Amino acid sequence: MKLTIIGTGYVGLISGACFADIGHKVICVDVDQGKIERLRSGEVPIYEPGLEEIIKKNVKAKRLTFSSDVSGAIKSGAAIMICVGTPSRPDGSVDLKYIYQVAKEIGQNIDGHKIIVQKSTVPPGTAKEIENIIRSEIKKRETKINFDIVSNPEFLKEGNAVSDFKKPDRIVVGVESADSEDVMKRLYAPFMRTGYRVIFMDVPSAELAKYAANAMLATRISFMNMIAQVAEKVGADIDNIRAGIGSDSRIGKHFLFAGLGYGGSCFPKDVKGMIDMGKKLGCDVGILEEVEKTNKLQRKRFLKKITNYFGEDLSGLTFAVWGLAFKPETDDLREAPSIDIIKWLLEKGARVRVFDPQAMENFKKEISDNTNIFYAKDEYEVVKRSDAILVLTEWMQFRDPDWKEVYALMSGCEPAVFDGRNLYDPKTLEESGFKYFCFGK
Ligand code: NAD
Repeated sequence: MKLTIIGTGYVGLISGACFADIGHKVICVDVDQGKIERLRSGEVPIYEPGLEEIIKKNVKAKRLTFSSDVSGAIKSGAAIMICVGTPSRPDGSVDLKYIYQVAKEIGQNIDGHKIIVQKSTVPPGTAKEIENIIRSEIKKRETKINFDIVSNPEFLKEGNAVSDFKKPDRIVVGVESADSEDVMKRLYAPFMRTGYRVIFMDVPSAELAKYAANAMLATRISFMNMIAQVAEKVGADIDNIRAGIGSDSRIGKHFLFAGLGYGGSCFPKDVKGMIDMGKKLGCDVGILEEVEKTNKLQRKRFLKKITNYFGEDLSGLTFAVWGLAFKPETDDLREAPSIDIIKWLLEKGARVRVFDPQAMENFKKEISDNTNIFYAKDEYEVVKRSDAILVLTEWMQFRDPDWKEVYALMSGCEPAVFDGRNLYDPKTLEESGFKYFCFGK
């Protein structure tokens, strides 16, 4: 099938590359000409394990191309996938301007029957609005063209996105006609050989399912962070509690880690979007307001652990940061705790040394004043002469460091480790000479 992907960000690029890999002819378009130029010259603008290889392979096989000609690409595809961003407005509501712009362009350029597949995360009712915009643009052209609209929210996880796309737990598809259901079945059939995982439903249910999934996962994280606070007060260990409840099949073991909370391009924005949507509909969304509040407070609680130990004035102290990305295996910094925490440390007069395997270049662009930040080449160089280590992302290479070497490189006789991801055994750290702080122990 000929596929046009509009919006070549995380979702568009990964979807485009994976669909090309199973034999479809895919054109990925974007209004960001710089991004398209980089892709055309063989550069991959994001870090995602396995992505570069499949892009290279499929570009070489001429199944995957990149273009900034949105109108031309709309004409060439049998199915058009909308993968543009849906950011939060300052009041938390979902800004749909990119979606509506794309709908307008589709209406202005569509030249025959096509399936419009909406993959971005959007509030229920958006597919209907897209349909109305396309129809009104077609009407202005005084022509008659039919199209089908499908909602196919994306559930991939950054850091594991290629694998998630190729081996999905499920694919949710909201359809309005039997024909579009058939097309979507054919489109995803190669990913379905080991079990049938396409779940068809009505369009508003598919739209809401995406918000419900992210809201549920965010809730689990904030819930565990709430229990972690209690655990600290009563001398319990949150990891024992996690093991104790995660073994219950009704609860399950995923997304139960206490720590700095969630970040990234999806959970914060989608929780806010769900709160805004619920309020406008007159629903009680208090649960999610608490989820968001707890998540924001985790970063402050982490800072409090630091200032409780060192005092409010951090001038003269050096902090080594392990990890900047919002999660491992990505260079994505959107809503990453590292941004808030490092800014707060700098405001309090600290010097900061940082290391992340992938996100350093993005971080340099994120921080306007880099004068008090040293960018190190690895997890050992970064700790040199520092007073404390802050673990902000749980990259594999930070999970079992040589603590003897780390201790020898740091300054003072009792350096501190503030573990925002609960990676280490407190006893091991204390026996190695560190003062150790984490969540829920
Ligand atoms: P992104 O910001 O990485 O990419 C969006 C791209 O769309 C940008 O490159 C932008 O230039 C382009 N764009 C904007 N307007 C355009 C237009 N009119 N024509 C062509 N291109 C245009 O966003 P993303 O992270 O890929 O997210 C896209 C959507 O998917 C969002 O709704 C997001 O919530 C959802 N989603 C994201 C993830 C994730 O892990 N990032 C996972 C699931 C769902």
